[in-house]
Order: sequence, then structure tokens, then C-alpha cells
Amino acid sequence: MLSVIHSSSPAASSSTHALKDLELCQTLQREELDVLESIYPEYISSAQPNGHLKFEIPVELEQPCLIEFVRSGPPAEGQKVSLSVLPPLLLRITLPATYPLYEAPHIASIRTVHEWAPDISKLQRVLAEMWTSEETVLYRWIDYILSEEFLQELGFDMTNNRPLQVQHPDPSTMVSQLESYQQSFLSTQFCKVTYPCGICLEHLKGSKCLQLACEHIFCRPCLLDFWGMCIGEGDVDRVGCPDPECVKEGRKSSEEDVSRVVSEQELERWKWLKTKKQLELDPTILNCPIARCQALIPKPKGVDAESGWDRFRQCPDCSFSFCSFCKYTWHGPITQCPLPFTERLFQQYSAAAKGSRDRALIESRYGKETLVRLVKEHEDQQATESWITESTSVCPGCQSHVQKSDGCNHMTCARCGQHFCYRCQGKLKEKDPYEHYRIRGTYCYEMLFAPDEDYS
Ligand SMILES: [Zn+2]
Ligand SMILES: [Zn+2]
Ligand SMILES: [Zn+2]
Ligand SMILES: [Zn+2]
Ligand SMILES: [Zn+2]
Ligand SMILES: [Zn+2]
Repeated sequence: MLSVIHSSSPAASSSTHALKDLELCQTLQREELDVLESIYPEYISSAQPNGHLKFEIPVELEQPCLIEFVRSGPPAEGQKVSLSVLPPLLLRITLPATYPLYEAPHIASIRTVHEWAPDISKLQRVLAEMWTSEETVLYRWIDYILSEEFLQELGFDMTNNRPLQVQHPDPSTMVSQLESYQQSFLSTQFCKVTYPCGICLEHLKGSKCLQLACEHIFCRPCLLDFWGMCIGEGDVDRVGCPDPECVKEGRKSSEEDVSRVVSEQELERWKWLKTKKQLELDPTILNCPIARCQALIPKPKGVDAESGWDRFRQCPDCSFSFCSFCKYTWHGPITQCPLPFTERLFQQYSAAAKGSRDRALIESRYGKETLVRLVKEHEDQQATESWITESTSVCPGCQSHVQKSDGCNHMTCARCGQHFCYRCQGKLKEKDPYEHYRIRGTYCYEMLFAPDEDYS
């Protein structure tokens, strides 16, 4: 119980009133506070014996209200937010010794936590007008603030047709403060109340339960059993709300919800399963090649395949820019991928039978045009290589390719001057290169003018 005893009279006017009146005021004040204490105990944050009172009154709305915080600029900026819970209103008042008979309570200050209502001082006049002499008014004040009427006074449109515009120097900070306030307020409320679990039907405190986005409530042990089993079996699609209606609609759980229920390992496995599933559904989606990142990166739309930029990817998480073919750091749209990659891709592609699923998968990932070009380039290169093997020989002195110009197998390298045999690539003596073809029983005996053989 609170007691209000004035050790000295704070208001100067009180000296002119009879002692009897002052005693009556004291009694009325004490009675009023007793009533408030029993009805709204959590709203009275402080009640000093000298008549200084502090109230902290929550602001909860029947339905969400749209507020737009606007900075006049420059640059002008606005941010809208829809809220059904706002930070509380703080009211500091002093009760004069002659309240409620001759004076209204004195409002020392009125403001809101986070200052979301800059026009709140308007309320001072409204509250003052509610007092009529000889009547206590605090209960009516609190009732008025709780009733949302005061928000209408501040210009809030409860029909939600248009947002209330509030001037604020930093709209985005304001909005995030209000959102996190609402979030923590609601979760505190949720924890206090008891709910029946949708699975085991047991009644449990909110702190032991979880409310999913669809608003269904389950106890944590039940969700852990169910989701843990689904993750264990690799059935990632069933990690969602277990309510039959939601199962029918295939409602999946958010990462936030899953992480609040399952173990660290189960969460990792769930994420991995989801990624795998997505990759299977759309082969154009890639994992970021950075091992500790591995974010999913979709193929950008509307990029011309001819330009080479269709291979460009940038990870939205770690910003790594890379080539979607070879996964190396982006090497520009013109430069070819480092050879081993194209070689591997060509082999994979030509190994996959026409019309097979593997071939379709490779085509959808890298684009059919690209693969056709790759095959063509590969064939061209092979043709060049076989021409080189067939029409040239390698100089044993400097390893350069030397083309045979006439029928004679005796070659002189134009680069290093080495004499050698085109047929066996053996070095020949500078003084008598033809001796090589005169030694009986050797591979090149009498082969100075031998025609080209098949080198394959
Ligand atoms: Zn349960
Ligand atoms: Zn549900
Ligand atoms: Zn990344
Ligand atoms: Zn590349
Ligand atoms: Zn040479
Ligand atoms: Zn030879």
C-alpha cells in the first residue's frame, strides 16, 4: 500500500486553505492511489510520499497502425512502419496538497520512450481540461491514454487509410528501435501466457513453446522431436508447421524458427539439405566457391550469352566475383577459362550420351550455344594438333617444330642449326649427316627419301 503524507505543503496556495480541507485532500489522494495500485499496479513506476508520481503506461493498439517517419532533409527521407505496440508513455506528475478539491495534478513532464510522438505535449492541455474541482482524475487519465483516444488526438488514423506522418531527424533508426521494442514486448507477453501444444495438447507457458509464422503454437520438445526426425531422415520438405492445414499447404519453417528449436548440427544439416534440394531443382544456381561462404547464387537474368558476361557471377554474401564455368576469380568476358576446365567440361559433355539426363543438365548449366562452341573449338584445336604431328617434327636440339619442306629426311633446324633425322628425330653429325642412312641394319637404313609414314 502506498501512503501519501505531505511533510510540507508544496503549493503556495495551500496555506490559505483550512487544515480540514488539506486533511481531506490527503485522504482522497491516498484512496485514489490505493485504487490505482490495485487496478494498474504495473503502470505506477514510482510514488513518492511528497506527491511526486511516475507512470509508465503501455501503448497497445487494437490493430496495427501505419506510421511514416519523415526527415525534411536534405536529402528528404521517409520510412513507413506498421505497429500494434509502441513504447510506453511516461508521465511525471506532482499532486498539490489541495488536489483534488482546489487544484488539478501538476504535470511535470509527458513524453514517450524513444520519443516517437513529438507532439505529445498537446496532451497536457487535454488532460488538464479533464479535471473538475473536487474530483480525482488520475484514474480517468490512465483510462484515456489506454483507450487510444489520445493517439487520435495526436493525429493517428486508426482506420489505417493513410499513414500518420511524424517528423524525425533519423527515420531509419527510429523505425528499427520501434520494431525491436514491439518484438521484445510481444515475446515477453507470449512467455507469460499458457498455451496448449498443438501436438501433445499439454498446457505450457509460452516460454516453453514456439509460435510459428502461421500463428500455430507447439511446445518445443514436440517440435524438436518432429523436426529432428525429419532432418535425420533427410526429409527437408516436412520441416514446417505440423498442423494438418499447414502441412497441406506445404508451409515451411523459417531459419529463425528452426534454429530456436534444433541442435547446432541439426541446423547445419537442415541448411545443407535445403541447399542441395535447391541445386537439384535449378542447375543454374551455383554455390559460392569460397569454402567458408557457399551462398547460393542464381543465374542473372537477361544477360547476352554471346557477350561472355553470362559467365560472370558475384556472391551476394561475400562479394567474390568469379567465372561460373571454371569457378576461378573472374577473368573477364573475353579471356577463355584456364585450359584444364574447358578440357574437363568437353570430356564430360562428350561422354554424356545425346538425349541423356546428364547431357541436359550440363546444357542447362552452361548453355547449349557455349557447348557447341566449345566442341567446335576443341575439334579445330585437334585438327591443328594432328596437322602439327603429321607435317612437322621436333628438333632434338631446341624442341621447336620444324616443317618438312621436301622429300629428304635430313633436316637442319632453322632456329638452332642442329642436323637431325625427320624420321627418328635422332641428331645427325654435322660433318656427314647422311652416314645415318648408310648403316646397315638400323631403323633409318636407306630411308633418306622414305615417304611420310602414319605417325598416329
Ligand atoms: Zn507438445
Ligand atoms: Zn501452422
Ligand atoms: Zn560467397
Ligand atoms: Zn572461367
Ligand atoms: Zn633446333
Ligand atoms: Zn633416323
